[in-house]
Amino acid sequence: MADRRKALVIGGGVAGMSAAISLREAGLEVHVCDQDPHWRVYGAGITITS
Ligand SMILES: Cc1cc2nc3c(=O)[nH]c(=O)nc-3n(C[C@H](O)[C@H](O)[C@H](O)COP(=O)(O)OP(=O)(O)OC[C@H]3O[C@@H](n4cnc5c(N)ncnc54)[C@H](O)[C@@H]3O)c2cc1C
Repeated sequence: MADRRKALVIGGGVAGMSAAISLREAGLEVHVCDQDPHWRVYGAGITITS
């Protein structure tokens, strides 16, 4: 069996999830872990003002 490169991403915010997607697209086996067991989101959003 060929070696498969692996990555561990610490933190599942937008940066960690983006990194995980990119690494997965590059062919790595990726695991994401976050210290928050509820994986809550604090204040991320898109605001469009007039
Ligand atoms: C009140 C508030 C309102 C905001 N409003 C907006 C908005 O309207 N629009 C906008 O675009 N942005 C907004 N932001 C900013 C936005 O939330 C951040 O820019 C964005 O979340 C940063 O993403 P990040 O992945 O770098 O960090 P984070 O989202 O902070 O993610 C980091 C993750 O790493 C985890 N982590 C940290 N340390 C460890 C560790 N040692 N082990 C395991 N896991 C760990 C944390 O639990 C967290 O889930 C707001 C921020 C706040 C606080």
